[in-house]
Amino acid sequence: SAPSEVREFQAETRQLLDLMVHSVYSNKDSFLRELISNASDALDKLRIESLQDKDLDADTTDLHIDLVPDAAGRTLSVVDNGIGMSRDDVIGLIGTLARSGTAELRKSLAEVKDAAAADDLIGQFGIGFYSTFMVADQVTLITRRAGESTGTRWESNGDGTYTLDEVADAPQGTSVTLALKPADADDHLYDYTDPGKLRQLVKRYSDFIAWPIRMDVTSTVETEAGESETTVESETLNSQKALWAKSKDEVSADEYNEFYRHVSHAWDEPLEVISLKAEGTFEYQALLFIPSQAPFDLFMRERTGGVHLYVKRVFIMDDCEELIPEYLRFVKGVVDAADLSLNVSREILQQDRQIRAIRRRLTKKVLSTVADIRASRPEDYATFWQQFGRVFKEGLVNDPDNRDAILAASSFESTDGAEPIALGDYLGRMRTGQDTIYYMTGESRQQIENSPHLEAFRSKGIEVLLLSDPVDEMWVGSGVTFEGKTFTSIAKGAVDLDEIEGADGSESDRTDRSEEFAGLLTWLGETLGDEVSEARLSHRLTESPACLVGDTFSMSPQLEKLYRASGQ
Ligand code: ADP
Ligand code: MG
Repeated sequence: SAPSEVREFQAETRQLLDLMVHSVYSNKDSFLRELISNASDALDKLRIESLQDKDLDADTTDLHIDLVPDAAGRTLSVVDNGIGMSRDDVIGLIGTLARSGTAELRKSLAEVKDAAAADDLIGQFGIGFYSTFMVADQVTLITRRAGESTGTRWESNGDGTYTLDEVADAPQGTSVTLALKPADADDHLYDYTDPGKLRQLVKRYSDFIAWPIRMDVTSTVETEAGESETTVESETLNSQKALWAKSKDEVSADEYNEFYRHVSHAWDEPLEVISLKAEGTFEYQALLFIPSQAPFDLFMRERTGGVHLYVKRVFIMDDCEELIPEYLRFVKGVVDAADLSLNVSREILQQDRQIRAIRRRLTKKVLSTVADIRASRPEDYATFWQQFGRVFKEGLVNDPDNRDAILAASSFESTDGAEPIALGDYLGRMRTGQDTIYYMTGESRQQIENSPHLEAFRSKGIEVLLLSDPVDEMWVGSGVTFEGKTFTSIAKGAVDLDEIEGADGSESDRTDRSEEFAGLLTWLGETLGDEVSEARLSHRLTESPACLVGDTFSMSPQLEKLYRASGQ
């Protein structure tokens, strides 16, 4: 057969592995959850593929996961008979970072200064397969893709390289064998060959996994004749109960956390768990999570996760885009629909009335949940907004039907203080005579705050929204209203603050002085020529002598930039 091939990891992967090898991460047990999670995904994929491809040469009669501890040899193997990987898959998936967001990771890795920072990064990035290097000196993966005849062996000890070999007689699926580091409780390293420990870890992290997780357990009993007899029994370690089918009070927070980590491939804790059930003509159950941390790839095209679709407890597809709108893409979880066909395809889903009904209901439920969090847990809401606000606001553009609910659950920076505010509070602070919500857009809060446009508003004590996210441009000028109030840009058209009472109740000096300045205005108009459409006297300035103002219906400079950047 072909000789071993030695390959180098990409630079980021090398750095990441180095972090793992020297990790002081306090939750090293996580490696087992990650391996089992991958094995479970592989079994799901094989089931689906064999349904879709009747000619696939694969055995699906006893899909399961095996844990094989070897105390004497100090190894632990996690074995599945799932979809497996081709040689190219191994190189692409295991040899490189599977996740997108590499640039972000590189940046974060560069910032890792101490153990605590490393810990934080590991937790944040959710290192899957590579977490094995926290507990193992050497990792050997043997795999054969269902339908292919030759297998591949991948081996590495976590330094800069890995080796690849062909394996002629590899069984279908994947086995990952860890040469374990010595147990060291101080370093959070336990004896992962101890059946009791493994039993406990599976219960804690992977109990809900839908496939059986088995382990051979050897026991020695004394016979009546005084001889000892050794028996080996296969034990199933997980209960395989679908958490979404249970009511919320039957499931512990830890169980939800672990299930969340499995479906989202993340390592944080969810901010909120949403469980819902529909009965009647169309039955389904949903278990959704709002994460507490945005994944690195939230703004990337090839992101992972989302909402998985099950039909009667059977996994159908991950990241089912039809189930949740794009602007709620941070929501993770599963929907289990009873009445769909197991053969359902993405094309069918796009047309399906029931799927559309589920999507409408899930959307409303997530929006009302965010509103509830805001009302009852301000700190959690602040976390939510900080992590997902920018994505959430895309809904103001893309989901007009729910715009009121999205606006009500959103926050905006304003001249009122450093913290983002609710529009409801803005309405409560409007000045007597004010009947519109004032805003200004710009590239950053600081840039907006330096604008002369704000002067008159400041001196009158009128609150102005400071909108600096690119998406703000897209919705705020599109005729949106909130509780009957329009939004008005302070940088466009003539702003008339005459009717509005100042903070000190003062009337402003609004003597018409256009005659006095007629000469200057004409001169300005002629000198600036085509650069401006008009030079006029304004009451919007209190300190600066002049400022540029857009026409009421013209594009703002930010929007112009946005269009130019997109080539329009
Ligand atoms: P993630 O699971 O978040 O994608 P991992 O690092 O855990 O990241 O795994 C990387 C990829 O390697 C997986 O997406 C999968 O394609 C592949 N993989 C890992 N383990 C297995 C396995 N047991 N069987 C088949 N493919 C696997
Ligand atoms: Mg994984």
